[in-house]
Amino acid sequence: MSDCGGSCSTCTDGECRDRLPPGMLRVYDLDQEVADGILVYAEVYKADGSWRLHPAVPGLVGKAAELTTGRVFAVIFGPAELKPLYEALFSYGVDTLYHMRDPKAVYSPEPYADASADLCRRVLPAAFLLPATPQGREVAPMIAARLDAGLTADCTSIEADGRTLMMTRPALGGNISATIAASGFPQMATIRPGTFPDPVPEAGRKGTVVSLVLRGSGREVREVRAVEGTEDVSEAKVLISLGNGVRRRESVDAAFRIAALIGATVSCSRAMADRGWLPHSRQVGQSGKTVSPDLYIAFGISGSVQHMAGVRAKRIVSVNRDPDAPMNSSADKAIIGDADAVLRSMLRSLEEGLDGGVDLS
Ligand SMILES: Cc1cc2nc3c(=O)[nH]c(=O)nc-3n(C[C@H](O)[C@H](O)[C@H](O)COP(=O)(O)OP(=O)(O)OC[C@H]3O[C@@H](n4cnc5c(N)ncnc54)[C@H](O)[C@@H]3O)c2cc1C
Repeated sequence: MSDCGGSCSTCTDGECRDRLPPGMLRVYDLDQEVADGILVYAEVYKADGSWRLHPAVPGLVGKAAELTTGRVFAVIFGPAELKPLYEALFSYGVDTLYHMRDPKAVYSPEPYADASADLCRRVLPAAFLLPATPQGREVAPMIAARLDAGLTADCTSIEADGRTLMMTRPALGGNISATIAASGFPQMATIRPGTFPDPVPEAGRKGTVVSLVLRGSGREVREVRAVEGTEDVSEAKVLISLGNGVRRRESVDAAFRIAALIGATVSCSRAMADRGWLPHSRQVGQSGKTVSPDLYIAFGISGSVQHMAGVRAKRIVSVNRDPDAPMNSSADKAIIGDADAVLRSMLRSLEEGLDGGVDLS
């Protein structure tokens, strides 16, 4: 009989499997002398019939690999059909992958938290990183409570000082950025999607897969339905972002029509969300979402520090009537003009299919 008494996530019929998979220890007390490596919660989802990694995961794995001198562990939950994702996780830097087999393939917070906590007790990671997605935000505090570990939620940056993580997040209502170090292990953090760039994948990189059976809990989630009409700005590749300088209500409709034509998503500044023309779920910034699109087109956004805290765009185009607006200095291209008028003319050019009407290069 093993140390766990037959109650861990690897147990079947009340008995622990005698042979522990590679990377696992028979030590159940989180031990500061031993804790090493970083565990990443590799969230997955199903779209168009196939399983995918949440877009936040590659960046998290890449950052974990950068921060630790130990192993990078990852845990995924789901059915056997997740196998095609193994290769991608290894290519981003995962060394040991724990696949919690969940044949029902429905996210269920309690068993996921139980299994993650069991895994931490055996693997003893120095840190456990989760994406600050709705799933990560729900399951992380449950895991932390089971481990009696500290959790820094909604981080916008993490760095390492040896095995100690320096985790930065907005605090005191967002008025300051606090850098927090946990006093115990594992050091847990949820990190906003889009915070870290995707690492360059290393083709053919190998790792170890450990497959475990997920134990159920008394409760089960039968079905998860997405709310229709919501778009996640943090996943968008092109964003049309509206700020206080957009004065006409019909410009919001124009932005959505442009977005539909060019495959973009509409986001906004807090001033625009506070005005009620767009929901706060589309707000970019310190108290909103972190976005990392290839192109961010800011219409009438000043570029406040709080707004730019959420902008990790490859390229920025700013439309602002004030040449000295801070957004213009962060932008690759600045169009000095009226936001409503530029939106109108952009839509007209696209709808009329004018050659060269809109040049975003
Ligand atoms: C704790 C805290 C957290 C915050 N979190 C966030 C956050 O997450 N996201 C966020 O966005 N803000 C946040 N803010 C608010 C932030 O400080 C700014 O107030 C906000 O970003 C301003 O939004 P804006 O740039 O759209 O509006 P404004 O500051 O009003 O700027 C409007 C811009 O539009 C230009 N303009 C005006 N008229 C026109 C026109 N006709 N055509 C073109 N340009 C025009 C102006 O020159 C100006 O640059 C936070 C503030 C605090 C204190």
